[in-house]
Amino acid sequence: MSTKRDYYEVLGVTKNASVEELKKAYRKLARKYHPDVNKEDHDAEDKFKEIQEAYSVLADDDKRYQYDTYGHEGMNGQGFDFSGMEFNGFGDIFDMFFGGQSSGSKRRGPVRGEDIRYDLRISFEEACFGLEKDIEIVRVVECEVCEGTGATPGTNIENCSTCGGTGQETVYQQTPFGRFQTSRTCRTCQGTGKIINEPCKECHGKGRKQETKKIHLTIPGGVQAGARLRVSGEGDAGYYGGPNGNLYVFIDVKPHKEFVRDQDDIHSKISIDFVQAALGDEVLVNTLDGEKLLVVPAETQFGDTIKLKNHGAKKLRSEGRGNHIFYVEIVTPSNLTDVQKDQLKTFQKSLTGKQVKTHSKSKGFFEKVKDVFE
Ligand SMILES: [Zn+2]
Ligand SMILES: [Zn+2]
Repeated sequence: MSTKRDYYEVLGVTKNASVEELKKAYRKLARKYHPDVNKEDHDAEDKFKEIQEAYSVLADDDKRYQYDTYGHEGMNGQGFDFSGMEFNGFGDIFDMFFGGQSSGSKRRGPVRGEDIRYDLRISFEEACFGLEKDIEIVRVVECEVCEGTGATPGTNIENCSTCGGTGQETVYQQTPFGRFQTSRTCRTCQGTGKIINEPCKECHGKGRKQETKKIHLTIPGGVQAGARLRVSGEGDAGYYGGPNGNLYVFIDVKPHKEFVRDQDDIHSKISIDFVQAALGDEVLVNTLDGEKLLVVPAETQFGDTIKLKNHGAKKLRSEGRGNHIFYVEIVTPSNLTDVQKDQLKTFQKSLTGKQVKTHSKSKGFFEKVKDVFE
């Protein structure tokens, strides 16, 4: 009995999935479970193999037809044994499944190194003004001792006799459907086409190793949360002479307790009392540049905005800064003394010619009802 999972289930697609859907599902999963990304996790490696196997079958019309018709039993012995494979980055898998390479006759060409993601959380002010920062990243580089060959300098590197230096070996397999010829990564040389007699001690024959590198970042003022900063060539080293990947710094911005940013403008609230609103005043406000005196004009209404020019965030793509916009809230005075109340009543009468009918705040609903009936 087969204990294998259904290939469609493995890729998380329906039985009617189009080639595009398969490709998409595969790429997503392959990225997630790629052994280079999950070095410590052996389950991920198995999962990765399972994904490759499922995709290699479903992406091939003939094999998919056989699988749909006969299930896993129909696939037995067809050489979907990936246990001897070693992948060197996404480029190889994609070449293999999407770009050819399956003939086994091609030598490996240059492949670009992996990109690296670095998440950086910065303060609200740093996002507004920009910052310089050193970060440390761990990336894969070519071993400098063996110059990426994997062999101790001065020792022999021979062509692999199993695959004749191609890195691919041809496998014949007898199946209920006839004899099939498939090619896979050479098990003797793991696809390198070379046999190293004395592995480099520095990198244990891998030709590559991890290094921690300090990167100096210049983050421009006006950067937004979610921005992605590319640092070219600071990703993992390429393969077979391919270029390095890139480093991508993903920016996250901490929220501010008082300010909200919209592009390069800053928004915040100020509270004034109705006398200031009516007569105008100068009030101390917080800005990105510290406390400032803001002029509140006479006859300011609730909800009016007052603009402080050039006190916003730096403009990302041009010179200068945005503005700081204050939203005016008018606060009703409380705990007035009897004298103040009398003053207000007098004021009100002068304004409207009528006496206000006052109601004190502390009374609850039932007290008010009682007042009405008394
Ligand atoms: Zn080395
Ligand atoms: Zn070989």
